[in-house]
Amino acid sequence: MGTLQDSALWVNDIIPGGSEISEVSCAFPPRRLAQVASDIVEGKIDGRIVGWYHSHPGHGLFLSQTDMETHMQFYQFSPYALSFVGDPQSGEFGIWIYENGAGVIQLPSNYIHII
Ligand SMILES: [Zn+2]
Repeated sequence: MGTLQDSALWVNDIIPGGSEISEVSCAFPPRRLAQVASDIVEGKIDGRIVGWYHSHPGHGLFLSQTDMETHMQFYQFSPYALSFVGDPQSGEFGIWIYENGAGVIQLPSNYIHII
């Protein structure tokens, strides 16, 4: 959850989404996403959906084809949608965005500020 302010996307909360998991992939369940969107409309949740997060324990930082498709589900809620991938084994993380003409690209680390 977050907001766009002063040309910056602020991410200030997370809502666990649950997931549909197999051994090598996970996907954000569309029904859960629809529920979160409904909760926002009904005022049960403050803010806007600005993206999603998940982890790749021990597998590194990348977006799989399923992750790309999930990213584009979030893109329909906001053109500033981001995908966050963390690898808890290495302690690394990456953020991806959709850029016109380039597709889904990893955001350079100098664009990310953790406050
Ligand atoms: Zn993934």
